[in-house]
Amino acid sequence: MLITELKAKETILSLVEGKAFIINCHGCREIRFPEKEADALQQELMAAGKVTGSITTDYICNPENLKLRLEKHAAAIEAADTVLVFSCGVGVQTVAEMFSGKRVCAACDTYALPGFQGVTPLEYDCKQCGECYLNLTGGICPITACSKSLVNGQCGGSKNGKCEVDPDMDCGWERIYQRLKKIGRLDVLKCPVQVRNYATDDEVSK
Ligand code: SF4
Ligand code: SF4
Repeated sequence: MLITELKAKETILSLVEGKAFIINCHGCREIRFPEKEADALQQELMAAGKVTGSITTDYICNPENLKLRLEKHAAAIEAADTVLVFSCGVGVQTVAEMFSGKRVCAACDTYALPGFQGVTPLEYDCKQCGECYLNLTGGICPITACSKSLVNGQCGGSKNGKCEVDPDMDCGWERIYQRLKKIGRLDVLKCPVQVRNYATDDEVSK
């Protein structure tokens, strides 16, 4: 079980550079999705002419299923500068993997409650940390893709793109760097260090 909460309205609006294609995942029964709030915000974006298209579906954490459902939206996605995803962290990462050359943004934060998340075994995961970093990391989760869950960049121990903690694993921050380079967003790494609010990690599950 988990809870998705919208990020601050100003944050979401600032994510839409140019035009966006919107993906809503109303998810499985295990997820609380802020349906009404998300709808109101999306109406605002549409009225401002900032949306090329949208889809509301479920289980976007199933890549095959998502691919099929997005087929008829290919032109609208191509026309968008950003794919804005309203879902938990696993859903956003699934979209980011699918459109690795495009800017994919998370409109929600994901908070944990006991239970499971996602329906398909995937190579990536979300620890439901409560303060989603995917918008700063090219859609790759620094909490789960880095052995030390570093949020401010590489530790310095990586060799040949592999993690110093687990040499069989690709360094998460090397992957983040390569993804940001691919989408032309290395500038994001020059942002001042983000102070993390660790209270959000388990605040909801108390
Ligand atoms: S940063 Fe990672 S763990 Fe935190 S909400 Fe986003 S995907 Fe989940
Ligand atoms: S080598 Fe990379 S993945 Fe491993 S702990 Fe350091 S930054 Fe994280």
